[in-house]
Amino acid sequence: MAVIYDRVALIGLGLIASSMFWATKRAGLAGEVVGYARSAETRDIAREIGLCDRVVDSLTEAVEGADLVVLCVPVGAMGEVAAEIAPHLKPGCTVSDVGSVKRAVIDAVGPHIPEGVHFLPAHPLAGTEHSGPRSGFAKLFENRYTLIVPDGPADPKALTDLENFWRGLGANVETMDPEHHDLVLMVTSHAPHLIAYTMVGVADDLRRVTDSEVVKYSAAGFRDFTRIAASDPVMWRDVFLNNKDATLEILGRFTEELFALQRAIRTGDGDLLLDYFTRTRAIRRGIIEAGQDTADPDFGRGKGGA
Ligand code: NAP
Repeated sequence: MAVIYDRVALIGLGLIASSMFWATKRAGLAGEVVGYARSAETRDIAREIGLCDRVVDSLTEAVEGADLVVLCVPVGAMGEVAAEIAPHLKPGCTVSDVGSVKRAVIDAVGPHIPEGVHFLPAHPLAGTEHSGPRSGFAKLFENRYTLIVPDGPADPKALTDLENFWRGLGANVETMDPEHHDLVLMVTSHAPHLIAYTMVGVADDLRRVTDSEVVKYSAAGFRDFTRIAASDPVMWRDVFLNNKDATLEILGRFTEELFALQRAIRTGDGDLLLDYFTRTRAIRRGIIEAGQDTADPDFGRGKGGA
């Protein structure tokens, strides 16, 4: 594939940035990828494992001369990083990010973007429960969606380049407006994480009573919750604090549904439970038909899958 950007700067070198680097190299999408992380420890690891063509020790050095700058730090840190890099951005370059929340990132980063620099927020809908510079892999974005979320009309060439870049990383690309993004992601990703955190917290309380039976007999449902609940604590704290309205809206609806199921169980309303579970099963089938998950039992774990 042809080079799209002569120089790409990745700010923050965790799961998403490291996966972007390996996928960029695999597809030959950039002349050079420069990386920066806030801690010397992460920069040392990056140098040791060959993550990025060049790892630099300052934000200024990282963004100077870059044609694409991607902020890959937790949502709550985006504004601070944007303020620091702003005076050093190359005129005509594109600044993007990978944050899981969009309205709060746009409000925090947007005001710092200088005239003549394109700001195109984005969110790859791909991840694992692992974090840090060693956790990335080139296939992370394959056949997953990356949403590009401009706040208003975008420069057509800058948008096309970023779309092609993400396609080159293996993703399906769509655009969406920020408010819609935040609501959709609350339903599909953020609320499930909050529920998993809660369920594992409840089990942790129980464990004290049942003397580790929760761990010993952990069945597939609970194991899946623990995988989700192992995700990076800083990332998820920032997601909820920065997508407050959608979180509270969806949690309100969730609570109402939970009460309805609770009442059905108490009153023995088997028809309601059957209808409900039939509807939810169809959603799972839809995800498989859309190619977004495997139909193998237990996510293919029996065959050595992840
Ligand atoms: P990660 O593996 O935890 O890496 C985060 C990186 O950000 C690290 O290099 C860290 O530096 C740096 N960082 C943390 N706090 C910082 C601060 N206050 N100032 C400057 N740098 C800071 O995280 P990730 O999973 O790649 O997530 C990065 C972004 O992608 C987040 O905005 C997240 O919402 C989004 N995202 C994540 C997923 C997912 O499933 N993980 C999926 C889609 C989007 P040090 O190593 O030096 O501490």
